[in-house]
Amino acid sequence: MKILVAVKRVIDYNVQIRVKEDNSGVVTDNVKMSTNPPDDNAIEEAVKIKEAGKAKEVVAVSVGEEKAQETVRKALAVGADRGILVKVDRVIEPLAVSKILKKIVEKEKPDLVFMGKQAIDDDCNQTGQIVATLTNYPQATFASELKKNEDGTLNVTREVDGGLETIKVKIPCVVTTDLRLNEPRYASLPNIMKAKQKKIETIESKDLNLDISPRLEVLEVNDPPERKAGIKVPDVSNLVEKLKNEAKVI
Ligand code: AMP
Repeated sequence: MKILVAVKRVIDYNVQIRVKEDNSGVVTDNVKMSTNPPDDNAIEEAVKIKEAGKAKEVVAVSVGEEKAQETVRKALAVGADRGILVKVDRVIEPLAVSKILKKIVEKEKPDLVFMGKQAIDDDCNQTGQIVATLTNYPQATFASELKKNEDGTLNVTREVDGGLETIKVKIPCVVTTDLRLNEPRYASLPNIMKAKQKKIETIESKDLNLDISPRLEVLEVNDPPERKAGIKVPDVSNLVEKLKNEAKVI
């Protein structure tokens, strides 16, 4: 079994995001970048399946600028066997990423496509679903537990409004991962060194002959409105009075 894992390079989740002065986007220069957190869970799960002897190869793919190679390299350092970088010269939208990933799926023919449930930079939560649609693969989104059945199908437990739902999907399929799925490991120094020897294939997006032009235009990006300072009230009756007459919430 071969597992393809999509990993996206995003601004590190610990970074305090700053809006550019001209409101055209957020500042990314000299900002720490990392793998999108749920994509770490996706890689971890793929590597665990391989370590359990149930998969032969884990391939990590990223679509992005040259620097996205670091994200692929990190996936290699935690256990992926091989990497693919599809180079694009600007940020592209989920539809465009999905068209590219479809091409990679056609080339690699994986049994499982693992992706994060959502990228923390644009919060789109679209790419897994679009890839499943374009490839005509079944999809299991927000996976918090996976179990492979004897008949080759996969049981996927997913978080839904009312609790947990377990569905059975045929493979090949697309699974998008939730942060609860596992605890991603850290790359050890020897494995980081070993990862330098692993192969990363670079593909130029223009060679794929796809229309990856943007469908959306960002008009402006603004900071969220600042929260007003709170006040202290002397007692409960005062609080209730303020909630009723000032905040008008009760
Ligand atoms: P999104 O639909 O943007 O919220 O992203 C959902 C998931 O799609 C991410 O967690 C990644 O696994 C994958 N993905 C999105 N963009 C990229 C990209 N540029 N390169 C690789 N994977 C991506």
